[in-house]
Amino acid sequence: MRGPRDMRLSELPPWAKPLDVERLADESAGVDFAVPLEELAALRSEGAPVSGTVSGRVQFSREQGRAVAELRFSGTATLECQRCMQPMERALEVKSRVALIAAEADAPRVPADLDPVLAEGGRISIGKLVTEEVLLALPIVPLHEPGEACAAAAEVPAQEQGSETHKPFARLAELLKR
Ligand SMILES: [Zn+2]
Repeated sequence: MRGPRDMRLSELPPWAKPLDVERLADESAGVDFAVPLEELAALRSEGAPVSGTVSGRVQFSREQGRAVAELRFSGTATLECQRCMQPMERALEVKSRVALIAAEADAPRVPADLDPVLAEGGRISIGKLVTEEVLLALPIVPLHEPGEACAAAAEVPAQEQGSETHKPFARLAELLKR
């Protein structure tokens, strides 16, 4: 018998389902994934929009009793340049190893070569794992780099500063006279 909770979970995309990390670690399981970045709530809440897709694989294992996830993924993130508000792309190439801990209190016991990531109740989704890494990999304030076409950095051509931009006001003055 499947309860309502199971039915709701089965409607989630595979990357959004909470995984039982202890079981996967015991099985040395690997999971391939593709995650649409615009679907990651924690990235959206950062303010500037992020889109694109990353794909890769997470390999679970057990090391000295700990559940460990080795995460590799790549893709392209489309961000919004905070200077010109135009799209800009950044390649993502992530490789990291994290220790999945059940409580914050376990963090100090994680060896220095592993980053602790909280898997509350022993469960975490691939989306959450990817979110943590993408937040670290992407710039906090995305800006076009020198050499890239940033619309705000470009000189506004003299033509566009000329009569074109003043026409609407001239037209308005005309309308007001009537
Ligand atoms: Zn720009």
